[in-house]
Amino acid sequence: MTTPTHPPEPGRIAELRARGVHGVALTWVDNAGLTRVKAVPLDRLPAAAERGVGMSPVFDIYLVDDSLTASRDTGGPDGDLRLVPDLGRLTTLAGQPGWAWAPVDRFEQDGRPYPGCQRHFARRMTARAAEHGIELRMGFETEWVVTRDGRFACSGPAYGMTRLVELSAYADDLLTAFAAQGVTVLQLHPEYAPGQFEISIAPSDPVTAADEAVLVRETIRAVSLRHGLTPAFGPVHDPDGVGNGRHLHLSLWRDGRNLCAGGTGPFGMTAAAEAFLAGILSALPELLAVGAPSPASYLRLQPSRWAGVFQCWGLENREAPLRFITGAPDDPTAANAEVKCFDPAANPYLLVGAVITAGLTGLTAQQTLPPPITGDPAPQHQPRLPTSLPESLTHFERSTQLRTAMGDMLFEAFAAVRSAEAKLFDGTSPEALAAATRERY
Ligand code: GLU
Ligand code: MG
Repeated sequence: MTTPTHPPEPGRIAELRARGVHGVALTWVDNAGLTRVKAVPLDRLPAAAERGVGMSPVFDIYLVDDSLTASRDTGGPDGDLRLVPDLGRLTTLAGQPGWAWAPVDRFEQDGRPYPGCQRHFARRMTARAAEHGIELRMGFETEWVVTRDGRFACSGPAYGMTRLVELSAYADDLLTAFAAQGVTVLQLHPEYAPGQFEISIAPSDPVTAADEAVLVRETIRAVSLRHGLTPAFGPVHDPDGVGNGRHLHLSLWRDGRNLCAGGTGPFGMTAAAEAFLAGILSALPELLAVGAPSPASYLRLQPSRWAGVFQCWGLENREAPLRFITGAPDDPTAANAEVKCFDPAANPYLLVGAVITAGLTGLTAQQTLPPPITGDPAPQHQPRLPTSLPESLTHFERSTQLRTAMGDMLFEAFAAVRSAEAKLFDGTSPEALAAATRERY
């Protein structure tokens, strides 16, 4: 077996046992954007790290409702993969006493990396960026709606201090849990929609950012449930209201310097940063299939909801899907770009990999950005991004850059799952679609 596995550090198992850990949740995120798990007792962790844990590849063609589709290479009851935990990410779960967590990489039985593994894809693209001398720093924002017994768990206004007072103990437990887990929270605040909150996490390398997106969501879930609350991470809670985004912040670095600042391009970005962002902007229609991949995503993607539905960019423009942020003028480390059109139905590993792919295409072609948009893009004749999943899937299926980067197996399994979800919910009313998806993720 050639898997890059390492046994737990000496003393680590004993340390976890002393902390009361009995089980370790080993997670991966499938093409439907759901986090799937196999758990092992703590004593089995060294064996799992060495040989992996068996799992069918069939989960790569599972849909959001647990029904199955098929793709050219994936489907059927046969075969087994090895799930190998990344013990560098082993974390004691503060919201789930007795449990620790680690994300897995998936390998074939003979030890080769499984070509359908989304985390391998994210790592490959990060390495490709490094070949261009680019280090990416990324961080996700997580928005969610909190209910209790089917009603919003707080009644205060958008961004209102009232909500933080109403759910003070809950918010405190969230911050305590993240601190205990070594996750650096930048902000926690009530959001616009009823019962909605947001947490943003400090940037890190792309694979870690995707791992943390998983850890953050499951921590929020665990802490919520301990407070008798239900968190909803679906793209929309109410189809007529503002939805849940999961925006991606990114900056490019070379030799310790932030390429989003100190250059001669728009708002101080360097030529490399401009080209990378231009690659993302021009690929947004196909990236949307990865970043807004549920039929419910298109209930969220409406003008005037700060979700970014026109293909444009701007400085601090919250109606632009690509929002450039210079940060404080005396802090060159702060400049970054935020991609706002993405939501919580996305697989974060696929998303960071796809965004890097598009950015590198822009970098190689030395693309430039069109003029920035100030104010509401709606009346300014900007192209509308796809308004349905079938539309964004058409762009995805034509994308040679994503097919080449993902490889045929992953590309086709993903396309099969998302096409099948489009079909599954074809003709479903917005209310029924929101209800079917809001608590699945
Ligand atoms: N909730 C909005 C969305 O669907 C985003 C609000 C914001 O700008 O943070 O993306
Ligand atoms: Mg927000």
